[in-house]
This record gives sequence, C-alpha cells and structure tokens, in this order.
Amino acid sequence: MIEKKYLDTVLGRVPTSDNQIWDAHVHLWGQPYHAIEDPDLMLRDEASSVKELNSFKAAGGSVVVEFSPYDFGRDWTVLKRMAQMTGVHILTGTGFYRSAGLEPLLAEHSREEWLRLIVDEAENGEKNTGAKPSFLKWSTSLNEITQAEKISAAIVIEAHKITGLPVVTHTQRGTMVGQQLEILRDGGVDFSKLLVSHIDMRKDLNEGCFLEVLEQGAWVSVDQLGKIKYGENSGKLDIILKLCEMGYKNRILLATDIGRISNFKCLGGSPGIEHIPAELCSQLREKGASEELIKTLVCENPANFYGKN
Ligand SMILES: [Zn+2]
Repeated sequence: MIEKKYLDTVLGRVPTSDNQIWDAHVHLWGQPYHAIEDPDLMLRDEASSVKELNSFKAAGGSVVVEFSPYDFGRDWTVLKRMAQMTGVHILTGTGFYRSAGLEPLLAEHSREEWLRLIVDEAENGEKNTGAKPSFLKWSTSLNEITQAEKISAAIVIEAHKITGLPVVTHTQRGTMVGQQLEILRDGGVDFSKLLVSHIDMRKDLNEGCFLEVLEQGAWVSVDQLGKIKYGENSGKLDIILKLCEMGYKNRILLATDIGRISNFKCLGGSPGIEHIPAELCSQLREKGASEELIKTLVCENPANFYGKN
C-alpha cells in the first residue's frame, strides 16, 4: 500500500499512483570527477538518455530517480527537458558524491552556506528549475570515510533534520556500511528515512550483507540489477525473496544504477534503463514471486520512500 501522497518531480508535484513501475536509481546526465580517467562515465548525450527513457516507458516504466548530485555535474534543466520529451517522471536529489571530487566542491562554500543552500533548494526549489529534491545523498570512499566525507555527512544530517528529506548513502562497492550507520545514528538520522545503496556490488553477497542495515530499521536497495559484472540477477533475486520472507519486503528498492555509456542499450550496451519493467519483473515472476510482491517491490516501496505527504 502506498502511504505517501505526492512525488516532487523535475516538472513539479504529481500524486502517487500504485501502479507505476520505478527504477529507483539511474544517471541520465552528468559526470563524476573520475570520468576524466574513465570516459565511459561521461553522460552528456541528451538524445540517448531520451531514447533510454522512451524504451523504459514503452516497457511499462513510469518513474526514475536520478542520482547525480553537485559533484557529479548535475543539471536539472536538462532533466526537465527529458521529462517533458518522454513523459517519464524524474525525481532528483541534492547532496554530495565522494573522494577527490568532494574536497574542491566543499571549499566553494562554508558549512553553514552549504546547509542554507540545500535547505533552500528543498523548501523553495532549485534556482534554475524550481524543482524540489526528493532525497539527500551522502557518499563515502572505498574502505574509508575521508575527512571531507565527514563534513558532508554533518551537512546532510543537519539538512535531514531541518527538511525531513530522506537520506540515501552511496557506499563505494558496498564498503563502510557499518561505519556509515554509526555516523548517521550518532547524528540523529531517522532510520525509517535512510536508504543504503550499492551493497550488491560486494563479491561475497548474501542476505547478511543487507541484514546489517535492515535490522536497524533502515532501507536497502539492490541497485546493480542487470549488470553482469556485479553478479547475475538470479542469485540476487534469491536473496531479495529470502529477505522478503524474513519480513523486510517493505524496505527493499530495486534499481539498475545505469551510469555508463556502456549501460545504454540504444548505444549497444546493457542492461538499458528499460531493464526493470522489460526483464526484471518477469524474472521475479519466474522465481515464484506473487504479483502482489512484485508490485510492492517495484511500485509501492519507492513511492513510500521518496513520496511526500
Ligand atoms: Zn549511481
């Protein structure tokens, strides 16, 4: 059941609906700091992103959550055009990416100024588009949390307390989950509004990897679906269904984290933004998931996490 009333999309506020299929984490436009060494991460091809969104819609998809924050070269004017051209609802977030790109970004403003900017965006909309963010992103590095990332944590925690927006964390390849939880709990984050991402990038994946988060009342995403290099879907779907059986079916989100040119199907890559509606739903069905459970995972959960009252 969907408990939230509205979604703040880049085109404004729309009511939630219980039959909209989501991809709860994608990238449509931007580039992180390391795109210089890894040009596959350079997403500046508006026409191809539009094609991908059209395929998503044709497969039955309705809503995507775009995850490129300030230090990921975000541009919401481009996202707005994509939403207008395709009719796909695009949600965005504000906040920070990680590591080397974060330090120069943080240096642009004082901590207080950053907080004011984020709170103003949440309350009054972003200055160029008027769009309101649906979450606050905080990211940490591989096997460490840097000094700059501790500062971005403090800003995100304060912004969360003022705005009530949910917090979504990026864990680099699923590392530092326990340390993230500790910092956020100490800071007073409401764990019913916390989602931890990228745990399924771990090589030794099992239910326990997610339980660390779920048992503390927070949410998880299985967000590398369809990407063979992070494991076949089959094993991940078994884990998802096991977690659902264990009572956590209302705190799991599914996504592809499309973030590379080589993920765009229209350019010959895989799995494409269409993956959740085009392939994953039927894979869940083949694994024995009921229609009701599939709806919970791909329609209702993301609306409850990102929706507003
Ligand atoms: Zn991402």
